[in-house]
Amino acid sequence: MHETDMTKALIVTIRNWYYSQPEQPKIEKIHLVVGQFTCVEPVSLQFAFEVQTRNTFLEGVELVIRDIPLIAFCHRCQQEYKPEIGLQYSCPDCNSPMEDIKSGRELKIDRIEYSSRTAPTHN
Ligand SMILES: [Zn+2]
Repeated sequence: MHETDMTKALIVTIRNWYYSQPEQPKIEKIHLVVGQFTCVEPVSLQFAFEVQTRNTFLEGVELVIRDIPLIAFCHRCQQEYKPEIGLQYSCPDCNSPMEDIKSGRELKIDRIEYSSRTAPTHN
């Protein structure tokens, strides 16, 4: 399961960040950027996240996913084009095979929305 492993890696990254904060903030939303060419299904990712964060500090946190389209660049035509995933990856004008991907392969955390806890601190 692609999404399960992705989610595990994602949670580890967030956990490391979370515990490196001087005070653990209350995480509200996690914004992700997911390229179409990663073949990650946003719905599956949401589901995997929900299951894996149950009873953890991330329970109930909303995952906001932004889709990034697959865009390739044809060197022969010197132009960008949008391949049709699963159908046609070559350049629509000259038929050169897709060799240079401009975007669509990213899978990363865009930003984390959180609010500071108001609990008193002991210095
Ligand atoms: Zn071309």
